[in-house]
Amino acid sequence: MKTPEKSEVETLKVQCEGGDGALGHPRVYLNLSEKNKVECPYCGHLFVLKEGAKVSGAH
Ligand SMILES: [Zn+2]
Repeated sequence: MKTPEKSEVETLKVQCEGGDGALGHPRVYLNLSEKNKVECPYCGHLFVLKEGAKVSGAH
């Protein structure tokens, strides 16, 4: 079993296609606004909001 990937991002909206090869999946859009992180339901890729990222609406 492969360890899920993790990415630091600077926006509250990301898209994931699962990477390459067998891990690929239909492109989905994910929203980090709830917990400043979100896990892709397809591939388990974890997206975390980068510390200090400028996000409109925060604060
Ligand atoms: Zn994914």
